[in-house]
Amino acid sequence: MYSIGIDIGSVAGKAVIFDGKEVIGKKILPTGWSPKETGTKILADILKEVRIERNQVKSIVGTGYGRVALPFIEKKVTEITCHGRGAYYLDNSIRTVIDIGGQDSKVIKLNEKGNIVDFLMNDKCAAGTGRFLQVMSNALEIDISELSQIASGAEAENINSMCTVFAESEVISLMAQGAKKEGIAAGLLQSVANRTNGLVSRVGIEDRVFFSGGVSKNSLLKNMLEKKIGVDIYSSDLSQFIGAIGAAVIGFEDE
Ligand code: ADP
Repeated sequence: MYSIGIDIGSVAGKAVIFDGKEVIGKKILPTGWSPKETGTKILADILKEVRIERNQVKSIVGTGYGRVALPFIEKKVTEITCHGRGAYYLDNSIRTVIDIGGQDSKVIKLNEKGNIVDFLMNDKCAAGTGRFLQVMSNALEIDISELSQIASGAEAENINSMCTVFAESEVISLMAQGAKKEGIAAGLLQSVANRTNGLVSRVGIEDRVFFSGGVSKNSLLKNMLEKKIGVDIYSSDLSQFIGAIGAAVIGFEDE
């Protein structure tokens, strides 16, 4: 038997299928305007891709802000619980999870059993999230996936505003003054690292630290965070999927 975890985030819908030992399939789609439609499509797509029938799946668990819109799930679980569970499944020596997604960032602390002992979430403001980097990449006329490469080796410009709206004006003024895209890109990543460090220092850090969410794909930001926080930070190809993985693990083990 299998379980499926579906994480409908603000930007991306992620699904994984789990056989009790391993993640045997994954799928990601833009959330778009309808979490319900995205969830329905992602479920149909993942079943088709791994050639598994719906009746071979014992449980479908939903998480992420769009979980409430999914009519076909057996159980809804919060993102904090699923991220904690997913990270612990990937590596049971993880004690701190830093997750930066499309519209929020969170720090989750786990004990040696993988239970959540503390967490802090910033979901009030786009600063320090994927949304911030998306807006700034648009202003720089680059793709967000190029940010890390462009900023690599450049001396970071100072971006003083934390607020996305003010920081965008700052980026536009810097460009008008002739500052290079490379330095601005580095400054923007540094500002996300500084902001994340602020969140981390309020919860406290414990080794081993895992970086998840779509923004964790930015390797330069990971390096900047390591320097700022002062510990090694781990990530994985499955980093953007850890909420969905946690949901699938919960579905498999707890049903
Ligand atoms: P959510 O769960 O809120 O939908 P995700 O964890 O799926 O968020 O991450 C989506 C975010 O990841 C988007 O805001 C996107 O801008 C960001 N992202 C994707 N690739 C990169 C990258 N290479 N560098 C920085 N951010 C990225």
